[in-house]
Amino acid sequence: MEGISWKGGNSAEIFKRISKDSGISQIQKEEFKNIFRLNVVTKHERYLGLPSMVGRRKISFFNEIKLRGLSKLSSWQSKKFSCGGKAMLIKAVVQAIPAYAMSVFKIPQGLCEDIEKAISRFWWGSFDTHRSIHWARWERLCHAKIRGGIGFREFSGFNQALNAKQGWRILHNPESLMAQILKAKYFKHSSFMEAKLGSNPSFVWRSILWGRQVLHKGLRWRIGDGKQVKISENNWVKNFEIPRANPQPSLSMEAVVAELIDGSNKWREDLIRTPLPKTPRPDKLVWHFDKHGIYSAKSGYQLAVNLKSPDRPSCSNISKTIWKVIWVNDIPEKVKIFMWRAAQNVLPTVENLWKRKIVWDPVCQRCCSMSEDVFHALVGCKFARKVWKLTEFYEEIKVMAHQDMLSVLQELTMKRGKKDIE
Ligand SMILES: [Zn+2]
Repeated sequence: MEGISWKGGNSAEIFKRISKDSGISQIQKEEFKNIFRLNVVTKHERYLGLPSMVGRRKISFFNEIKLRGLSKLSSWQSKKFSCGGKAMLIKAVVQAIPAYAMSVFKIPQGLCEDIEKAISRFWWGSFDTHRSIHWARWERLCHAKIRGGIGFREFSGFNQALNAKQGWRILHNPESLMAQILKAKYFKHSSFMEAKLGSNPSFVWRSILWGRQVLHKGLRWRIGDGKQVKISENNWVKNFEIPRANPQPSLSMEAVVAELIDGSNKWREDLIRTPLPKTPRPDKLVWHFDKHGIYSAKSGYQLAVNLKSPDRPSCSNISKTIWKVIWVNDIPEKVKIFMWRAAQNVLPTVENLWKRKIVWDPVCQRCCSMSEDVFHALVGCKFARKVWKLTEFYEEIKVMAHQDMLSVLQELTMKRGKKDIE
């Protein structure tokens, strides 16, 4: 069948509509072709590497992506990489392979999990005939470095953040061909943010609406003339709550913000400190987590991950500076990762092996005086102290009593400075 393809952007959905819709005549097709300067193609199974029609072949297409990732991992497993090298390969290669397809489609959850499991096995050193202990859960590795993780990506969260970007494009480029076609089909009489899934929705539309969940959480109205924004229904104040100045009893639940602005373009309430433009202009949806109000997949990702696991502890500024101790130094990545493992207590100390029932006794095999945890193995044990004696840190180390390794590192950095640590 003859179809029309469009150079650039999210073409799959567009030319599915044009080529399949029986309501479009050949003459109209010609008109489209001339107006948008489109190429006519006879076969369009794939466009820019993505399938044009995602139907029953969905699983086989996504499986192809998975296999590409897995074959990379298995080709590396025969070689010896340091954990720093492995982290680099995972971030730069394996996580990047599906990124393009992920920006348009919602990848099946099972497939995301399969890739994550394979990465996890590679990272902890398992291969076909050998199983290693996974000392930390995948979720913990996925935390950002300043939150105590390694900074790997949670595929599903990243996928959702990328799909949210398509939604952001629809919102901010309503004149684009993609936005116009989707509007005509799915939200003719409402806004994109209120659009419903509709009957017989395409896979692309489903994916965009899934991404929209992130936008719903992270978008805020920037007040222009206040006519579109409902006081109690919409997010429009910077602290994301209904304004502290309670709506006056005379205002209905449907009241719009315009009713809080007086004739001289000033807020009617002293407590409302949202800045107003000098001349009234339409209200605008902005991304709350960016100072310029522009959506980015990076900040969308953080929100998508929080949506998935709302119990995840938020990161205070204090804990951010704590974990920085490890990552800001100019030392080899594998040493940083060793420090991270010590700080997270995910090293194979005798005590940790004992907890996993691999050895029968948690006592230190060298001094036989007490159980061997990370502090004892690296600092407290008299044999470890002998090693420290050969370094310039001995004065600080010898007075340290039992504490976690992160505070040991912090104390050393505080007393000796970053340069000495390096
Ligand atoms: Zn010992």
